[in-house]
Amino acid sequence: MITQDFIDLESEFGANNYKPLDVVLCRGEGLWVWDVEGKRYLDCLSSYSAINQGHCHPRILQAMIEQAKKLTLVSRAFRNDQLGPFYEEICKLTHSHSVLPMNSGAEAVETAIKAIRKWGYTEKRVPEGKAEIIVCDNNFHGRTLTIVGFSTEKQYKEGFGPFTPGFISIPFGDSAALEKAITPNTVGFLVEPIQGEGGVIVPPEGYLKSIREICDQNNVLLVIDEIQTGLGRTGKLFAEEHEGIQSDLTLVGKALSGGFYPISAVLSNKEVLAVFNPGDHGSTFGGNPLGCAIAREALRVLVEEDMIGNSATMGEYLMAQLKEIDSPHIKEVRGKGLLIGIELKQEAGGARRFCEVLQKEGILCKETHQHILRLAPPLLIQKENIDWALERIERVLTSS
Ligand SMILES: *Cc1c(COP(=O)(O)O)cnc(C)c1O
Repeated sequence: MITQDFIDLESEFGANNYKPLDVVLCRGEGLWVWDVEGKRYLDCLSSYSAINQGHCHPRILQAMIEQAKKLTLVSRAFRNDQLGPFYEEICKLTHSHSVLPMNSGAEAVETAIKAIRKWGYTEKRVPEGKAEIIVCDNNFHGRTLTIVGFSTEKQYKEGFGPFTPGFISIPFGDSAALEKAITPNTVGFLVEPIQGEGGVIVPPEGYLKSIREICDQNNVLLVIDEIQTGLGRTGKLFAEEHEGIQSDLTLVGKALSGGFYPISAVLSNKEVLAVFNPGDHGSTFGGNPLGCAIAREALRVLVEEDMIGNSATMGEYLMAQLKEIDSPHIKEVRGKGLLIGIELKQEAGGARRFCEVLQKEGILCKETHQHILRLAPPLLIQKENIDWALERIERVLTSS
């Protein structure tokens, strides 16, 4: 079968909820992926930052195989010998008090919403049914009904209502708006430290510090969604560290397994997770031994192979070089670490066509919103790989 055969099969039998680039991949190793015709590409999307450790990392693969031979799933009806060690290791690494494991990112977000609502009723004493949660315009927290209900992106919600009430949206990066939106019934503020899907939007310097203070002053829980920005992507373990703050709840997913397996978690710095009693919440696969073993090794790899430090230095280099590109199409280059957005001017005709030309040049990336090219390679990228990519990116952005 060649590329077109696979594409035809997908469109004959699949739901049409994605518009991928027409490249059919069949193998990955580190920074690189190969298509069914044998062509090699540099992965500059990293599966939306789920592949921070690179494709098919040999150590994570080994951990997965070893555990898969022993025990994969017992459900939480019984205990397993991977769960406790996973809890201890992730809490120590992230300076958290407790953790609740789930599977997808959206489930971690849903879990956090349940936790802060219950905290609001039992600890803050908000009247029953009145809890309010503040979110930001242009947010992306996943695709479940509750989550799309508080999205400000028209397409995410059109045709899917009615939605869960209790959410208020304010402008991102505006701490005065947060202060104004808080009422006695506000239980939490859910925010991304950098809006990834929203177009790599970096808030003004001091924003995280200031929302931390506002939340403290008003007894409002700060929930930071680090599903995309966390685990080294921005050059720190968590993006919140750039301003030296700690959330009350931090959400992780994506790279928590290095791309081998869906695993997410809610990390708690206050005892918010203590509001859950047996039976309040759960998941058949959440906290299963296979997922835990994979996540343990994925975290060790990030730290032991200094991928976080590399993300900081290589990110700085890539960003500086991109800013040097003299292209009539570029409006702005921004980001942190290896999460970089190149915003193109309206007249450039959209980012998609540049992604298609970059694909021909051997680089895979994806537009986010209409005019933004996101570059987020695996965190093991080296200077020579960046130089190789820059030559092509410059050619495409200056000649097309
Ligand atoms: C990807 C993402 C999610 C959702 O994760 P899924 O695993 O796709 O459900 C939530 N929040 C942010 C910031 C994300 O980037």
